[in-house]
Amino acid sequence: MAGLSDPMAVGPAARRHTRAATVSWGGRHVMIGGEHPVCVQSMTNTDTADPIGTAIQVKELAQAGSELVRITVNTSEAAAAVPAIRDQLDRMGIDVPLVGDFHYNGHKLLTQHPGCAQALSKYRINPGNVGTGSRRDDNFAQMIEIACRHGKPVRIGVNWGSLDQQLLARLMDQNAARATPWDAREVMREALVTSAIDNALRAEELGLPGTAIILSAKVSQVQDLIAVYRELARRCDYPLHLGLTEAGMGSKGIVASSTALAVLLQEGIGDTIRVSLTPDPGGARSREVVVAQEILQTMGLRAFTPQVTACPGCGRTSSTYFQELAGRIETFLRVRMPVWRDGHPGVETMQVAVMGCVVNGPGESAHANIGISLPGSGEDPVAPVFVDGARSVTLKGGRIAEEFETIVEEYVARRYRADQGPAAVGEVGGGADAR
Ligand code: SF4
Repeated sequence: MAGLSDPMAVGPAARRHTRAATVSWGGRHVMIGGEHPVCVQSMTNTDTADPIGTAIQVKELAQAGSELVRITVNTSEAAAAVPAIRDQLDRMGIDVPLVGDFHYNGHKLLTQHPGCAQALSKYRINPGNVGTGSRRDDNFAQMIEIACRHGKPVRIGVNWGSLDQQLLARLMDQNAARATPWDAREVMREALVTSAIDNALRAEELGLPGTAIILSAKVSQVQDLIAVYRELARRCDYPLHLGLTEAGMGSKGIVASSTALAVLLQEGIGDTIRVSLTPDPGGARSREVVVAQEILQTMGLRAFTPQVTACPGCGRTSSTYFQELAGRIETFLRVRMPVWRDGHPGVETMQVAVMGCVVNGPGESAHANIGISLPGSGEDPVAPVFVDGARSVTLKGGRIAEEFETIVEEYVARRYRADQGPAAVGEVGGGADAR
């Protein structure tokens, strides 16, 4: 049995070895795979033919921390709008690459709109949706040829819901001839893996460099996703884009995505992630970015923003004040993070504890960079604050929240200073890009 000194017991497995793909735009680039940190991406749900509306949502996603943003390119109007979206983002100073998502007519759109082909930094091609028979091969080849000409990487993204039916039929026939046939689900999983890898090899034959290919094989069930990606990881060294497709709304979508992605990331599998959440009515699209970041940060793989540790509350809690303070501090940290990011290296590893009473308050607070223990039921109406494990001040009165925010702001200014270098920071929370 593994002991606590066993590396598997205390952290993720070594990252799977992969090639590294470069996604470039305007002289900048983000890397997917190799030794590079697992990056976060997202997708808009605006009409791409509306360049302003789409640019605004891309901006929202990028400012939330999305390192690539995918847009659907489904019509001639959408393809024609892509250069305008890129220009608008550049004018707004939004530094994020655009990925074009193509189905059915990508070969035509990329051919008829060279400005679109150039403005995009990466293409996503679903080999199950590029046509049938000989047209399928021709259309696929046409898109790969355009990617080669423009020097763009391609994600070959197969999907359970749009699996290549000819391939599936062939594998079903092969399966029927087995002495002990697999069940239908296993054949479907095999078809996904085979489709992704075969199409990647075909793209390489057509001239696309192996370092310009990323694979994904998305399904909507957690166990299927884990099984498919383990097999993909075993059979190729292309970088892998992880995501549970159609994860759903609310807590179900978050839990399903987190569960599936965490298992794979813990095994060192996955180079970029997207969390496909259905937004609540009126909800922010950027929620999927926050969830993706939180998956990576709570696993200790990357650090994006200071984290708040808050107790759940119980019968000892005298009011909901501590919940409100935890929420307020979390919002405060997210709002301040863009301001802190440049001048305060390491601040993203900061841990802040907000606890409801004296039982675990002082202990948990002492493990954070800064902690506050609010008064529980029957306790004196005071809130001790702990800084770097030592009791600092005791707050009381009606302005505890404001005074605590000031303490956090002063701590950041003092502790995370650019002139001190990275060695001075991150002792509590672990370093950014820890894997
Ligand atoms: S810290 Fe106090 S209020 Fe919070 S859950 Fe524990 S006992 Fe309850």
